[in-house]
Amino acid sequence: MARRIPEPFRIKMVEPIKQTTPEYRREALIAAGWNPFLLKGEDVYIDLLTDSGTGAMSDRQWAGLMLGDEAYAGSRNYFHLADTVRELFGYAHTIPTHQGRGAEQILFPELVKRCRGDKPLFLSNYHFDTTKAHVEIAGARAVNVLTEKALDTETPHDWKGDFDLERLERIVAAEGDNVAGIIVTITCNSAGGQPVAMGNIRAVSRLARARGIPVIIDAARFAENAWFIRERDADYAGHSLAAIAREMFGYGDVFTMSAKKDGLVNIGGLCCFREDEALFRAVQVRCVPMEGFVTYGGLAGRDMEALAIGLKEGLDADFLSYRIGQVAYLGERLRAGGVPIQTPTGGHAVFVDAKRMLPHIAPECFPAHALACELYLEGGVRAVEIGSLLLGRNPQTGQQEASPFELMRLTIPRRVYTNDHMDYIADCLIEVKRRAASIRGLDFDYEPPILRHFMARLRPL
Ligand SMILES: *Cc1c(COP(=O)(O)O)cnc(C)c1O
Repeated sequence: MARRIPEPFRIKMVEPIKQTTPEYRREALIAAGWNPFLLKGEDVYIDLLTDSGTGAMSDRQWAGLMLGDEAYAGSRNYFHLADTVRELFGYAHTIPTHQGRGAEQILFPELVKRCRGDKPLFLSNYHFDTTKAHVEIAGARAVNVLTEKALDTETPHDWKGDFDLERLERIVAAEGDNVAGIIVTITCNSAGGQPVAMGNIRAVSRLARARGIPVIIDAARFAENAWFIRERDADYAGHSLAAIAREMFGYGDVFTMSAKKDGLVNIGGLCCFREDEALFRAVQVRCVPMEGFVTYGGLAGRDMEALAIGLKEGLDADFLSYRIGQVAYLGERLRAGGVPIQTPTGGHAVFVDAKRMLPHIAPECFPAHALACELYLEGGVRAVEIGSLLLGRNPQTGQQEASPFELMRLTIPRRVYTNDHMDYIADCLIEVKRRAASIRGLDFDYEPPILRHFMARLRPL
């Protein structure tokens, strides 16, 4: 194996985490309705629920907090942020939002309003869960057009985040004016943090532009996608990540960003426009009642300063090599221990294939969720299900459909856990695998109507 890259930072502040007994964890999980989302954070030893807002800020970002200008309107930190967006992405207009979904809720209704068809829909390689929810709240349909290659977790493929271009073309031709926008999610979170190839983004953009369809980049993990392009596409070997990012964003018209991922902040989001000033103005109007005045969008001035700094730190090549290397290391340890995972590993997480690990549990009994519960019981490690529980019911029929994936995501926060933590996680999961045949599925005690995985209460069958 290649030499592991140690953490490219020194630790100058520590936060103790609590070790617990198996008995303690069983009680805690029962109290949480067998839903790790409902556990107290303090009862978790290593928290891999999400990489969203869980990263560690740098000394420079903490210093930036002290430069917060808390003017209600026209804070200098807003201008620093907008300048950074212009420099990194080439987008002229910036609206800060409280997080990614804030951008979605002010943008999508405006795109639906502009749509000429009467049955609006959005096409995406894969709609993130809140993205799908906001598409539906805006009265549109969310259709995923992901490459089939992503469904085969066993066979490595460089670009499992790609659109299936043939299917995309067919749907665009059939739906005509109904297509309100094409959302390019980089990297593709739901497929396993898998990258989208530059050629794929370019082709999607060309198709959309020929028909006047806006391209929205869902940019939460833009830096990781840029890193993968440099590593895996010979045409970009030796290019700077900044140049790659700039080209990717050039193929879009609007981007929404959850800055809580590659933006390296604990809270924040962006909704930015390359050049469409009319759309920018219309979305600004929605921003005021929903997120806040247009130069703060739900953020404190200091938060915008930390984000302006974080956007650049997130694109640092040494940091990204370490980070994505750490995720790959965890994946490699698991694979060596016989745990089936999505291969190759993605940028922000290792996705364990629960369908292969627990073939005796039916999709409607949520195999990946059952696995996440077992991992918590084993070692206090919190992971999350990306499968049928997350997918929810078909809104038309009310039926639970089987998700194409039953994955358990081990999401690695940025700059928080060391490689030793990765070893502990692997040891725990390999132990769980030994008793896989005895793990049971779950059923609902309480099923919320939308985004049910957050608040659901379950019980083992
Ligand atoms: C996190 C995320 C969002 C939503 O952002 P929040 O900051 O959680 O509101 C949207 N899309 C993708 C791909 C994400 O990963």
